[in-house]
Amino acid sequence: GRVRPMRPTWVEVDLDAIAHNVETLQRLAAPAELMAVVKADGYGHGAVMVARTALAHGARRLAVAVVEEGVHLRQSAIACPILVMGWTPPWQYGLALRYDLELTVSSEEEARALAEAARREGRRVRVHLKVDTGMGRLGLRWDHPRLAEVAARIAGLGGLELVGVFTHLATADDPDAPLTEEQLARFGRIVATLDERGLRPLLRHAANSAALLRLPGARYDLVRPGIALYGLEPFRGAVAAFDLRPALAWKTRVALVKEVPAGTPISYGATFVTRRPSRIAVLPVGYADGLRRALSNRGQVLVGGRRVPIVGRVCMDQVMVDVTDAGPVAVGDEAVLIGRQGDEAITADEMAGWMDTIGYEVVTGIGRRVPRIYL
Ligand code: PLP
Repeated sequence: GRVRPMRPTWVEVDLDAIAHNVETLQRLAAPAELMAVVKADGYGHGAVMVARTALAHGARRLAVAVVEEGVHLRQSAIACPILVMGWTPPWQYGLALRYDLELTVSSEEEARALAEAARREGRRVRVHLKVDTGMGRLGLRWDHPRLAEVAARIAGLGGLELVGVFTHLATADDPDAPLTEEQLARFGRIVATLDERGLRPLLRHAANSAALLRLPGARYDLVRPGIALYGLEPFRGAVAAFDLRPALAWKTRVALVKEVPAGTPISYGATFVTRRPSRIAVLPVGYADGLRRALSNRGQVLVGGRRVPIVGRVCMDQVMVDVTDAGPVAVGDEAVLIGRQGDEAITADEMAGWMDTIGYEVVTGIGRRVPRIYL
């Protein structure tokens, strides 16, 4: 390949895969609109490039977790509605208003404070009321005795425009969990009550990726997929069943190859000792890049189109793999941490399995030190 003046550890993001996933999800969700969830720097893929791609392929809105993420998108000339789904502290109201971000409120007090800030600045702020229907996180609880009155009072505040009402599902990935039905029933009753109250038509939204794929009744006016946009599993089997494409590959290059005798300790703590004459390759990537230390003596990497084991502890900036069985390996050869090589592939979901977590944590954990390249 082309020689680039950058470190030999990088992430490749296939924007065609993102485009394909957006179109696939939008087709399923229609007539609901698609709000692309690009928080955490687009799940580690790069929020701006993902956002532009998503908007060019049918997404109408974006969602982020914190105000700075919304500001960053605006500074990149993205003009669509952007919802901040997390809690916005009062000292960030000014910033959020200046950058025309939509905010989430979980209580009347929050809405009042926000409306007051907007009036002070001579602006109007658009808000979505979050309802906690069983996630136990942000939101006004569904069993609040006067939820509809609270919503009506919020809608009546000067300087504030109530544009949406939403909830988040705790178990949409699990077809056997009774909580999902309960949450959707609670949300359904709430939106019905708000309708009866004659609140101006609100954007109703509840569906994350899993719900968008599995639960047509959860789609409402707007769906909020994150993980599926990136081609990762919201639940096991989803990627194959819905023809989603993983967008991210994480690669590095062999820094050194050494032949060592049996009995050679490898890495900190000497937790691995070769049992045969071995060929060990050093890769210039470590836990400071997000290759988690939990992969020590557990994970695998693709070298020469084969799976080779990580041996010894993952260091901050390096990791060793045993390439004894991998055929010829030379300095500069490509090694794949996530992605395809030859006939083999390692997905972020597979890597997650080795360290008892989920693909979400793997991709959001890839460090800022790792350059992102767009294909
Ligand atoms: N909606 C909210 C409120 C979220 O916090 C998230 C992310 O966790 C999403 C939607 C997207 O979820 P997923 O990535 O599972 O599609």
